[in-house]
Amino acid sequence: MSGELWEVAKSLFPGGVNSPVRAKVQPYPFYVRGGQGPYIFTEEGKALVDFVLGYGPLFLGHNPPYVRRAVERQLERGWLFGTPSRAEVELARKIRRHVPSMEKMRFVNSGTEATMVALRLARGYTGRTKVLKFDGNYHGAHDYVLIDAGSAASEYGVPTSAGVPEEVTRTVSVCPYNDLSCVQKILSKEDHAAVIVEPVMGNMGVIPPSKGFLSGLREICSSTGTLLIFDEVITGFRLSISGAQGLFGVNPDITTLGKIVGGGFPIGVVGGRKEIMDQLTPSGPVFNAGTFNAHPLSMAAGVAVIEQLENGNHHVVAERAAKAFVDSLDDSLKLTHVVNRVGSMFQVFLGVSEVRNASQARKADREAYLRLHSSLLREGVFIPPSQFEALFTSAAHDQDVVDFVVRALRNAVRSVG
Ligand code: PMP
Repeated sequence: MSGELWEVAKSLFPGGVNSPVRAKVQPYPFYVRGGQGPYIFTEEGKALVDFVLGYGPLFLGHNPPYVRRAVERQLERGWLFGTPSRAEVELARKIRRHVPSMEKMRFVNSGTEATMVALRLARGYTGRTKVLKFDGNYHGAHDYVLIDAGSAASEYGVPTSAGVPEEVTRTVSVCPYNDLSCVQKILSKEDHAAVIVEPVMGNMGVIPPSKGFLSGLREICSSTGTLLIFDEVITGFRLSISGAQGLFGVNPDITTLGKIVGGGFPIGVVGGRKEIMDQLTPSGPVFNAGTFNAHPLSMAAGVAVIEQLENGNHHVVAERAAKAFVDSLDDSLKLTHVVNRVGSMFQVFLGVSEVRNASQARKADREAYLRLHSSLLREGVFIPPSQFEALFTSAAHDQDVVDFVVRALRNAVRSVG
């Protein structure tokens, strides 16, 4: 049972968990035995409608047969060879077809690794040192991005992590999200290798880019010789089959992907203009390597997911479910609130009426949000146990699920106050 596992886990893992947000579920995390479609099943045998979806990767829901069969076929042949395999070529060709700004790419194992490589590449290519990021954007758990970071770093009150050398923090400039004049000012004063941005912010809750923000970044970067990096670890293949760059029509120099493109298996991808990517070893001097890079299981799952996305109305279904959830929330909540939604990613902020950057998100009533989380859990619905995460829907969130959730929401909001 979850309680017994938790007692042992606390003696084995710092804070009882292997990734911090998981410890926010009260009184202790429920342990999960399996998942199917839009549901996860706890050790206690309870079914929960899942709006976390592994924090984003499971765009087709849990355990989709088509993806499982592709992974099983790979498993039968073996799963690690230390040499190239066919699936990596197939996956890369599909990615490039749908995200043409990724002319060449490298497969790594997580979003964290992808942004780490992207920033090193930008420095290597431009010969410049500093980079600019946005307050509350989260780009993974390495030194160069754990500065004013969102997600669990903000949830636990350490947006700038202990242990990151002062020398490193000095190489990173930070602007408020959606503030072009700040970017303009900093880049015109001092050369920067790159601007890295979540094209839709998904790590402080959800915050959309203001009209003209992404195209404005593109212009400022081009005119100052700064590389523009879109961190599409969440938005890639979610907001459209071409990600946020397809949706908004703005092309970055470098893109990072993760989550959906590995179908729920570990993956990160860094890709971009040929002459930038060719700086990577072995064709150039910027080093990257990895025992598990282009892991055959992740490659097989990724190819299968994209094949599904190419042949269905999955984005329509996921977005319809997200809209129904949001509409129902808007109807049921009597107190001041705002819901930000872009496609199939969204978050509610209680006690505030506008959230367009991280400091506005920090003003939301996080205690009330956690009460909503807990009461939805009692009603059989799992949303992230943190204000600073996003809710996601999948192509498995059909009308029956939506109807169930709308009823659950009506009951749950009573406890929010
Ligand atoms: N970038 C973004 C935008 C993310 O949301 C995340 C993780 N949520 C990462 C990077 C890091 O990815 P990973 O957890 O796979 O290292």
